[in-house]
Amino acid sequence: MGENEDLEEKKLLGSGGYAFAKITEDEEIRANLGVPQIFLANVGRLSEDRFMKYYCNSCGKEFSGSPIIKYEAPNEELGQGVILVEKGEYKCRDCGYVIAFYRKFNK
Ligand SMILES: [Zn+2]
Repeated sequence: MGENEDLEEKKLLGSGGYAFAKITEDEEIRANLGVPQIFLANVGRLSEDRFMKYYCNSCGKEFSGSPIIKYEAPNEELGQGVILVEKGEYKCRDCGYVIAFYRKFNK
């Protein structure tokens, strides 16, 4: 399908560091809320093979590869038809520090 052809390596900012990962233009548009930075929290869950490296603020250094991705799908009703579909965290492989977290809603 050639779906991977438009993957571009981007810096994705998190609350506890940053990561370099390959994302599509669509994902970039969704994650970019009118500011030049792209936030990992807005991109949501990416498969580990998309990541080139990440930086952990707690360790103070870069690691190659992907942070650990932990997520759950609570399907929690928050009222007014809003459902928390998924919540997850990107964590440092070395120290467990949270690099970024995200929440995905049904709308
Ligand atoms: Zn760390």
